[in-house]
Amino acid sequence: KEANDSRVHFFAHALQEAAGARLALRNDLTRSLKQGGELLLHYQPQVDAQGRMLGMEALVRWQHPVRGLIPPGLFIPEAEASGLIVPLGNWVLEEAVRCLKRWQEMGLAKGLTMGVNVSPRQFREGDFIHRLEDVLARVGVDALSIELELTESVVADDLDATVETMRALRERGIRFALDDFGTGYSSLAYLRRLPFETLKIDRSFVMDIGVGPVEGEGKSPAVLIDAIVAMAHELDLRVLAEGVETQGQIDYLVEAGCDVFQGYFFGKPAPAEQIEARLRAARGE
Ligand code: C2E
Ligand code: CA
Ligand code: CA
Ligand code: CA
Repeated sequence: KEANDSRVHFFAHALQEAAGARLALRNDLTRSLKQGGELLLHYQPQVDAQGRMLGMEALVRWQHPVRGLIPPGLFIPEAEASGLIVPLGNWVLEEAVRCLKRWQEMGLAKGLTMGVNVSPRQFREGDFIHRLEDVLARVGVDALSIELELTESVVADDLDATVETMRALRERGIRFALDDFGTGYSSLAYLRRLPFETLKIDRSFVMDIGVGPVEGEGKSPAVLIDAIVAMAHELDLRVLAEGVETQGQIDYLVEAGCDVFQGYFFGKPAPAEQIEARLRAARGE
């Protein structure tokens, strides 16, 4: 009985500590958003089969005064749970659009798209459309150069509302990518109703390339990629493969018919100056 009690205490204590850590993180993020200057964006190239840059994805980081550079996986979930994702997402959107504008003014970003991740909660805010239009108008960037990345959870939460918002934005020129495809529950029925331009095959599928057949199945799990590409092309979607790290993976993905590639092989997410240098180099400057 005593041993049991102490275990209960142990778990209660651990839970309390976890809750305490979450609260601390939330307070810290609130402070950081108010104060400004700690969030920053890295950009990761998206390239075609010849390695030419077609665009980039903006990925947020938190330069914490004490903890150092914090990756989004450690604070986005808490930002979503607390609602802080809305101001955070607004900041990301504005910063990414401003960065693209700078590159356009330098003549470095002709025809390039800027991919911006949008959380379900942010996408569903009543004024999201207005906000986006406002940022584009103020900064002076064409909607055609923005690709919003939505995950399947946005779609699953409320299909009708999602369709409506997406169509309204699509009419204004905004493009959409379906992020992390294959990890959720997207069905063909969803995809047909939604005006996506790009389907991003999740990194977990790309990691299966080169892995042999599962015992008793006879085929490598990577054949799923072939099926996804065929289906996506049938629906007139462009297919982007995420998390490409090796030449072997590229060979397979090119053969499978993927249109766009993103991953460490072509460039890790990097600060704006590094991407800028790369754009200059590509232009022969
Ligand atoms: P995601 O949208 O799927 O972004 C791709 C993640 O995969 C990035 O991690 C990127 O650094 C990583 N990655 C790219 N290529 C490779 C590769 O070849 N190998 C490996 N191992 N990893 C690769 P990151 O930057 O840590 O972002 C993690 C997630 O955080 C993102 O996943 C996205 O869901 C979320 N996130 C990032 N920035 C934002 C943002 O501004 N807003 C929202 N709502 N979510 C964001
Ligand atoms: Ca993404
Ligand atoms: Ca993704
Ligand atoms: Ca992913």
